[in-house]
Amino acid sequence: MSIEPLARGIGMTSQRTRDRLVERLKSQGINNPAVLEAIRTVPRHLFMDEALASRAYEDTALPIGNNQTISQPYIVARMSAAILTAEGRGKVLEIGTGSGYQTAILAKLFKKVYSIERIRSLYEQTANLLQKIQVPNLSLRCADGYLGLPHVAPFDAIIITAAPPEIPEQLLQQIGPNGCMVVPVGDSRSQQLLRITRQGDRLVEEVLNQVSFVPMLKGRG
Ligand code: SAH
Repeated sequence: MSIEPLARGIGMTSQRTRDRLVERLKSQGINNPAVLEAIRTVPRHLFMDEALASRAYEDTALPIGNNQTISQPYIVARMSAAILTAEGRGKVLEIGTGSGYQTAILAKLFKKVYSIERIRSLYEQTANLLQKIQVPNLSLRCADGYLGLPHVAPFDAIIITAAPPEIPEQLLQQIGPNGCMVVPVGDSRSQQLLRITRQGDRLVEEVLNQVSFVPMLKGRG
């Protein structure tokens, strides 16, 4: 069966509902046209359990199983816009594939997306989905994201969608010249979303938002 009618959605999952989400994000200060277009065209309802699909275009995080969550659309948009200030739109590395929603958004913004998930069942489920909806420019791994992908580095941008207690040193080293990393750093209750940009031999740090992500854990799940 073709994925098309499913992807287009009806009622609470229709294009009109997605357009309303985009309007809401604009009113909250998201103004990058490429990011808004990506949110308009990626059907978020496909990245969650069918029972929750009617809530897919609410601006809220939702459970995806294995104690993990699909990130809130505002945060996905904010993080995507934050890394687009990086010089190039070639290679991006995502840590925490989860549902694959952020991954699919990145695939519209960068030439090549590398994404790492530590929980094997989530990795397999999401790899299937992304293949089914034909996201072509992806490379997915089931591994510990703390290590990054040294043999593919340097990256134009790195996006971490789980919260480490401190900035992961090995990932910092994989940011390319004029590239950046966005990462929610903090404890399990609340974190600061940081953007770290490589400028020559300096790393410049900015605080973007207060956020609440699931923890970034060591090793494979
Ligand atoms: N961007 C995802 C967010 C999912 S929640 C989405 O919107 O669906 C964060 C994800 O990070 C979880 O799937 C969790 O298993 C994963 N994760 C946590 N620590 C990790 C690590 N060290 N390496 C890779 N993935 C990790």
